[in-house]
Amino acid sequence: MVDVKIENVYKYYGSMDGVAAVHDLSMDIKDGEFVAILGPSGCGKSSTMRMISGLEHISAGVIRFGGNVVNELAPKDRDIAMVFENYALYPHKTVFDNVANPLKLAKVGAQEITERVKQATQLLEIDHLLERRPQELSGGQKQRVAIGRAIVRQPQVFLFDEPIAHLDAKLRARMRSELKRLQVDLGVTSLYVTHDQLEALSMADRVAVMHEGVLQQYDTPKVIYEKPANAWVATFVGEPQMSLLECMIRQKGSGVVLDFQGHEIAVSARAGKVLAASKEQAVLAGFRPNHVGIDTRKKAGSIPGTIYARQLLGGEILAEAQVNDTMIRARVSTDFSLQLGDNCSISLSKDDLNVFSADTGVAIY
Ligand code: ADP
Ligand code: MG
Repeated sequence: MVDVKIENVYKYYGSMDGVAAVHDLSMDIKDGEFVAILGPSGCGKSSTMRMISGLEHISAGVIRFGGNVVNELAPKDRDIAMVFENYALYPHKTVFDNVANPLKLAKVGAQEITERVKQATQLLEIDHLLERRPQELSGGQKQRVAIGRAIVRQPQVFLFDEPIAHLDAKLRARMRSELKRLQVDLGVTSLYVTHDQLEALSMADRVAVMHEGVLQQYDTPKVIYEKPANAWVATFVGEPQMSLLECMIRQKGSGVVLDFQGHEIAVSARAGKVLAASKEQAVLAGFRPNHVGIDTRKKAGSIPGTIYARQLLGGEILAEAQVNDTMIRARVSTDFSLQLGDNCSISLSKDDLNVFSADTGVAIY
C-alpha cells in the first residue's frame, strides 16, 4: 500500500485568472490512513478526488502515490478503487457479475474470481444475494455491491465520494460503522469525501476541512472539534452549532475578561494570558451547546436573555436564548420548563472557550 501526497495543487475549470475550484491544496495521507475531506457543496471536494483518481487534469501542483508522481497516469494505471454516490451498477448483471467485473477485466482466473468475490461479499454480508440483479436490491444492498466491486481488487488507494449521502438516516449510521470497520480490516489508504460533519468526525483518522477551494484545517477529529482553526470551521463542525458572541477584550486587575454587551465573561488564567498577548480587541467567543447552561434562576456571572426556541432532540432539549441579536444555544435536560419568550439566565463555562479574531476569524485561543 502507499501514502498519498498532495503538493500545492490547483484546479481551474476555466481560465487560470478565474477563481480556483481548488486553491493551493497541500496535504498528506499516510499509508493505511483514513482521511475525510469535509466541506459544504461546491467547496472543491469532488474536484480534489477526481484529480487524485486521474479523471480530472491537475491545473498546477503535484500528486504522489508512494513517492511517485502520478499527474500524468491514467486512472486505470493508478491502482485505485472508487465508490461514488451514484454507484452505477450494471442493471442486467447479477450481484456476482457486478462484483467480479473488475477482476474479469484484469483477466484474473475463474477460480480466483469466485474466491475473491466470495471473500468480499462475505465481508459485506451480501454473499446470499449473489444471483440477484440490482433492481431486486434495497438501496443499502446496492451500495454494498458497489463497495464490493471496489474492494475485490485490493487496490492501493480507496476513493469514496459521498458514497452513502442518499441513504436514509438509519442505514447511513450503520454504513458508517461498516465502512470504518472494513477500512480498518483491509488497511487500505482511504480518502472519503463528505459534506456531513458527523460522518467525517466519526469515521476518519484525520479530517481536512475545505471552504471555497481552500483547506481550512487538517487534523484529528478531536482537535477539529475542540480547537477549530477559525470561526468558519467552528460553526461548520458540531451539531447543534457553536454559539459565537461578539466580545471586547477588557483589562481587569492584572488579567483580562471578555465584555459581551456590558456583561463580563470570566476566562481562565491561561486564556487570559494568551488573549492579553494577542493584542486583539474585538473577538468572537465560541461556546459549544454542551458547555452553556440556561436557567430560570439568576446565578453569579450569568447573562440575562429570553428563550427564542426549544427543540426536543430525543434524550435532551436544544434551547436557544436570545440576547439582543445574538443567539446562544444550550443542551438542556428534557425537564427544562422554560417556554418561548420566558426570561432566562445564561451561564457559560470558561473551561471550554474558543476565541477568534473578529476581524480575520482566525483562532486566538
Ligand atoms: P464539491 O464536490 O465540494 O461539491 P466540486 O469539486 O464538485 O465541489 O466543485 C467545486 C467548484 O468547481 C464548484 O464551484 C463547481 O461549480 C465547479 N466545478 C466542478 N466541476 C466543474 C466542471 N466540470 N466545469 C466547471 N466547473 C466545475
Ligand atoms: Mg462533490
